[in-house]
Parts: sequence; structure tokens; C-alpha cells
Amino acid sequence: MLKRVLIANRGEIAVRIIRECLDSSIEAVSVYSTADSQALHRIIATRSVCIGGPRAGESYLNAANIIEAAKATGCDAVHPGFGFLSESSDFARSCEEAGLKFIGPPSKVIDMMGDKAAAKRMMRQAGVPVVPGSDGIAQTADDAEKEAERIGYPVLLKAAAGGGGRGMRRACCKEEVKDAFEAARAEAESCFGNGDMYVEELIENPRHIEFQILGDSFGNVIHLGERDCSIQRRNQKLLEEAPAWGLSEKLRGAMGEAAVKAAKACGYENAGTVEFIVDKDDNFYFIEMNTRIQVEHPVTEAVTGMNIVREQLRIAAGMPLSRTQEEVQICGHAIECRITAEKVFENFAPCPGRIDFIHFPAGAGIRVDSALYNGCEISPYYDSMVAKIIAKGSSRLEAVRRMRRALEETVINGVQTTLPVQHLLMYQQDFLRGGYDTGFIEAHLPELLAIYEAAGGKDESI
Ligand code: ADP
Ligand code: ADP
Ligand code: MG
Repeated sequence: MLKRVLIANRGEIAVRIIRECLDSSIEAVSVYSTADSQALHRIIATRSVCIGGPRAGESYLNAANIIEAAKATGCDAVHPGFGFLSESSDFARSCEEAGLKFIGPPSKVIDMMGDKAAAKRMMRQAGVPVVPGSDGIAQTADDAEKEAERIGYPVLLKAAAGGGGRGMRRACCKEEVKDAFEAARAEAESCFGNGDMYVEELIENPRHIEFQILGDSFGNVIHLGERDCSIQRRNQKLLEEAPAWGLSEKLRGAMGEAAVKAAKACGYENAGTVEFIVDKDDNFYFIEMNTRIQVEHPVTEAVTGMNIVREQLRIAAGMPLSRTQEEVQICGHAIECRITAEKVFENFAPCPGRIDFIHFPAGAGIRVDSALYNGCEISPYYDSMVAKIIAKGSSRLEAVRRMRRALEETVINGVQTTLPVQHLLMYQQDFLRGGYDTGFIEAHLPELLAIYEAAGGKDESI
């Protein structure tokens, strides 16, 4: 059993995990930076420890300080949330060495999946379909060009250590490879400290469909169905839904099986996500595995009735999964909007500031995960995602109606957010029709922004 867990994160995900700990009669110790002394995750925890300055490197990425705080407060486990140290195998290993249970997969699994090129090779060997591409790293732009000629254009140059849509550039012909390679490598080096690149066939406007996985320490692995995360801006998700629109039972079954196979092939334990892209002909390809809780986990919780963070705590405590594959039933439809504090008319630049007034929606089928409260500060130091609004209905249309109503009720004064754009999206014909792909936002964002501007959106901007 776990008695006391340290949550090595901030924002809504820290709040989500703290609440789950308290619901499970586990004490929750939060860590905070000097910029976060008034943050909700500090306030609602059983105890809290200051771990350093505002910059993430001084605090939320400071593994030594976090482990010190966990030991000093007598914690028996550490939950890393997402982002920050959640996919650092060094951090997982340091926790293990300090006698702290890392709430996630073993460090060697994080290592295996953290190198996306190596993970693809492993999956291909395990019989999971992967995007055609280079077998491993392309050392130089010349190597990348050779691979691209073999694969055929267009190609995507991707960072082996990539995440959050960074370190990725497309090349449509031979002449574009060198610049794309250097640009992607430079971005990867500055974001991840690792410039290793690999080459993939660029699938034209695929759908992004991912499967939620749970594995326990007894070798049981199940999946909780899929999420469609094709509504992306610059390879970053804006909205997710479950189940995916129009997926045949045959394809869903085959993808679910492949996801479980992928997790078993790497000895997976705890919660994870197997990401696939699906082309126009319903071919699906593994792209990567995320070895952590994911931002969009609430849509899966809504349609399965399962509690993924509770499962994570149970698995870490050595308990078996609470359901078998047969006991997982998908019921209804759920949509999540990621609300970020951003200036939508200024290319979505971050918009930190003070929240003067906030009102969140409630009522049937609505869930809000956020760390905002009246008067709180949105710090410029961290990610701009400030709230997730989740709507569930018995059908997709009911979920959409509830999302419209929920977004109309919401008031966030003091900073600009993406909410008005997501609200307009709930009325967009092609979105309502379903069957969209990852090209949707690029094609439709200008029109949504134009409607917002014509309706006076720019004048409302603070
Ligand atoms: P991905 O986009 O890699 O598929 P997710 O959808 O789970 O994975 O999003 C993870 C992203 O959330 C990170 O890449 C990062 O940009 C962002 N993030 C990291 N930490 C936080 C945090 N504490 N609060 C909000 N967002 C965060
Ligand atoms: P990250 O680690 O940054 O999350 P992913 O490999 O998961 O990177 O890819 C993020 C997104 O980029 C995908 O959801 C998809 O929209 C797009 N993408 C990735 N690989 C390809 C590909 N080979 N062809 C087309 N789009 C792709
Ligand atoms: Mg991804």
C-alpha cells in the first residue's frame, strides 16, 4: 500500500493527482517553485515543499531537489504527471535507487520508448505496423537524403527524442532535405539536448488515433479503447474525443490488439499510450509510445467509467488491474477541449497574467480539470495550458451540445484563451460531420479566426 506520494508536477495534472491520492486515503506532498507559492497544487496538498526558483530547471526539472523533498517528507512513491521529468529514465532510476516507487514504467522501458527510432525498430520486430522509414538514426543530411530517396517524397524528418510536436520538419523534395534536417536537428538539440534524427514517409493528412494502455506488475495488459486526437495545430493537440468517429469494429479491434502487443513487447507496466496514425485507406502505423499519463486521459475515463490515475496508484502499490479486457466497455461519447492562455490573433503566443474573475461550467456530463481560481496568477514560466473542459453524452451530438453549453457558461477574465476558437469549432459543419484528419485545423483555423474577429473578438482582447 502507498501511504504518502510526492507529486513532481504543477498545474491541473498535479491537482488531478493530488485529488486522487486524497480520495484513496493517500497523503499527497506537493512540490512548488518560488513562482508557485500561491498555486492550487500547493494549497490543496497534505504538505508542500519549495524546491527552487521559477525556472523549470531550478525546480520542476531539478531531480535532486525533488528526491530530497520526497525523502525528507517520508514519501514512498513519486508521481511525475506529464511533461517535466515524466519521461526521464534518469529520474525514474534515481527514484528507484532512493527507494521511492516511480509511478510509471520501469526506467529501462522509458529508455527503450524514449528513443523513437529504436522504439519503432522494436515494434516492427514485434509485428506491430510502423510508418515506413529509416531503420534507426540518419547521422547526416546526406544520409537523410539517401533514406528519403529510398522512401519517396514527401518525408518527415523527426527527432528521436522528440515530443510536443517539436523537432519535426517535412521535406517534399531532394532540395528541401538539407535545410529541414538542420532546422529539425537544431530544434531537437535545444529542446531535448539530443539531435538524433530519423526519416519517415509523410502520410498525407492522416488521423491521429491512440490507445490507452494499462499494465500491472503481474504481466496483465489491457487497453481502454482509443482517442481521436487529429484536431492539432502544429502537431499539438487542441481537442480530443473518444471513441474515434467512424472507426469500423474490425479496425478498432486490430489496432487495440496491436497496442496491447506493443505494450507487452516492451514489458510495459502502469499507464501508457500507444500512438498510431491512420491513412485514407485505413492502414494504421505505430508512431510512438508515451510512457506516462496523458493530457487527454479524461475522455477515456468518461467513456469507460474507469479511473486511470487510481489505476496508476493501484499498479504502483503492487495490486492487479481492476478490470479484465472483457470487462472494459465503451459507453457514450466524450470530447475534451484543452484551454490554453494564448493570444489567438498573435499566432497563439502565450498570454500570462492575473485571473480577475473565473467561472467554470458544471451540470450533467461536464467535468473541468484546472488549477485556476479567482485572483490566481498564470505564470510566464510554464506551459500555457490552464484548463481542460470535458463533455460527455450518450451520443457524439449530445457531447457536442453539452460542450457548446459548457463553453458558453465559462468566464475567464484577465487573460486571452483559445476558448472562443474551440467554441466556434463546436458549430463548424465539417467538424460536426466527423471524419476529419490532422489537416483540419490548418485548413479551417483562418475561417474560425475570421468569424471570431468579425464577431468582435479582437475588441474583447485584453
Ligand atoms: P503529446 O502531445 O506528446 O502526445 P500530451 O498530449 O499528453 O502528449 O501533452 C503533453 C504536453 O503537455 C507536453 O509536451 C507539454 O507541452 C505540456 N505540459 C507539460 N507539463 C505540463 C504541465 N504541468 N501543465 C500543462 N501542460 C504541460
Ligand atoms: P511527438 O513526440 O512530438 O508527439 P509524434 O511522433 O507523436 O511526435 O507525432 C506528432 C504528430 O505529428 C502526429 O499526431 C501527426 O499529426 C504528425 N505526424 C507524425 N508522424 C507523421 C507521419 N509520418 N506522417 C504524417 N504526420 C505525422
Ligand atoms: Mg506524440
